[in-house]
Amino acid sequence: MSTNEPNTELRRHFIRDIIEADIATGTFGGKVVTRFPPEPNGFLHIGHAKAFCLSYGLAEDYHGVYNLRFDDTNPVKEDPRFVEAIKKDIKWLGFDWEDREYYASDYFEQMYGYAVELIKKDKAFVDSQTLDEIRKNRGTIKSPGTNSPYRTRSIQENLDLFARMRAGEFEDGALVLRAKIDMASPNMLMRDPIMYRIRHARHHRTGDSWCIYPMYDYAHCLEDSIEGITHSLCSLEFEAHRPLYDWYLEQLNIHHSKQIEFARLNITHTVLSKRKVETLVSAGVVEGWDDPRLLTLSGLRRRGYTPQSIRNFIDRIGVAKSLSTVDFALLEHTVREDLNKRSNRVMAVLNPVKVIIDNYPADQTEEMQAINNPENPEAGTRLVPFSRELFIERDDFMEEPPKKFYRLAPGREVRLRYAYFITCTHVVKDASGTITEIHCTYDPATKGGNAPDGRKVKATMHWVSAAHAYDAEVRLYDKLLTVESTDEVAEGKTFMDYINPNSLEIRSHCKLEPSLAKAAAGDRFQFERLGYFSVDPVYSTPGRPVFNRTATLRDEWAKLRKK
Ligand code: ATP
Ligand code: MG
Repeated sequence: MSTNEPNTELRRHFIRDIIEADIATGTFGGKVVTRFPPEPNGFLHIGHAKAFCLSYGLAEDYHGVYNLRFDDTNPVKEDPRFVEAIKKDIKWLGFDWEDREYYASDYFEQMYGYAVELIKKDKAFVDSQTLDEIRKNRGTIKSPGTNSPYRTRSIQENLDLFARMRAGEFEDGALVLRAKIDMASPNMLMRDPIMYRIRHARHHRTGDSWCIYPMYDYAHCLEDSIEGITHSLCSLEFEAHRPLYDWYLEQLNIHHSKQIEFARLNITHTVLSKRKVETLVSAGVVEGWDDPRLLTLSGLRRRGYTPQSIRNFIDRIGVAKSLSTVDFALLEHTVREDLNKRSNRVMAVLNPVKVIIDNYPADQTEEMQAINNPENPEAGTRLVPFSRELFIERDDFMEEPPKKFYRLAPGREVRLRYAYFITCTHVVKDASGTITEIHCTYDPATKGGNAPDGRKVKATMHWVSAAHAYDAEVRLYDKLLTVESTDEVAEGKTFMDYINPNSLEIRSHCKLEPSLAKAAAGDRFQFERLGYFSVDPVYSTPGRPVFNRTATLRDEWAKLRKK
């Protein structure tokens, strides 16, 4: 099946089974409401795309609705600039949450009210232990924890202290509100978890209205409940948190969303986690959150990935419970497949050497007709200027070619795509022995690239006319890490010790066919024989596009698959 066509056959997976069973039995009144809850503390990456494509896609498939909810409960790390970036990325992938844009911080009053209710039910208490003491008294996996000496405070005293916490009477860390569950629970998360901590910090939306902030586990289930979420999908690390998620909702006896966990997406030779990306950004290893080497959605967009290719990729990797790392080559394979259909072919020379056709008239220029996209007849043709002096790739020529080298060499005839057959006669070198000119003759009878006498050549090469070529910067990208996974990081080292020094190569003097000077930010092309390239939105200036290599033409995934 072509991956560009909509996937009409729904991909089966365990979450789909759960949802269909819920619809069949009328749980949640047959409704499906999902959400994606990013914390606005960084840019989204392809792992997040897996999460929202899954949640949003399921809502679409079952005629439900989906929400975008900013999980902005930690005022210290969050920033409105991330809110905007997140919205842009989700829209880019083609999702529209309409007016269902929510903020956890809008529920602070309601969450506070629920906490008061839990205190009244004797299910929560204010603890005066220090955070260190709380940690120590939690026990270990093998031994139970110890009840806090403050666990038996009266409901009245708890209500009073909690109100004063809110009113700002105490310093950070002086008191916390804890759920009263079970200090002997085998699940450490159930040992009287903290619900609220004091943090005198300004929040980007609520300003200074609050100096107590809810913890993730307490806040998240309430956010889902308040929004009437039916199926709350999250990654596997939250599995152990589910009993707590359920506990809060049961104690409060409010709408109870079903938490379902799935495996996080990991990709070889890179890092995804926001914390690690932030480390790369602040250390200047990459040029920002949208560096084309990163698998952030803004990095992928800048590198030339299409939204469709990312959705195809997410669809292809599927959904499972077991941890999986996906080979970077599969992602590249998917983008290549998509770009092959949609990008026009052009000629560009990235490592130029000059060819002089001695028997071609010096004052002549011909316009050669070139096919824009053999995969798409509607893309039509264009004219490419040809003249006596051209550029070809330096490695398309060898003075002493080994056996399997079929491209240009002294005495050998090759085809210049859409132009003529040429034969090399001799070369000119500079003092250091570097070839500066390759001299050739051409056969005027081969115009368009075919010999009337039917003789064959073994190579077809791309070229640009030296007088017409446009001088450009092209940026080539490679894997960010030299190791497949951060699990391979040696003791005493970090992933920062494994940065591929060649992850970015800037070629400043590439020669591009003149039509490319008009290319605008985001335009995508296949440079014949070299790969897929797109115009960088940051470094390009009008008339001077800078190109990013999106992917090479060589398909590592096809090779891996054959093995
Ligand atoms: P990171 O660990 O990369 O910083 P996060 O989990 O802290 O990400 P959040 O903003 O809290 O980022 O995540 C929003 C949602 O995205 C969560 O439900 C989380 O489960 C999901 N998510 C995050 N990373 C991945 C991933 N690699 N694969 C699948 N889902 C992910
Ligand atoms: Mg998080």
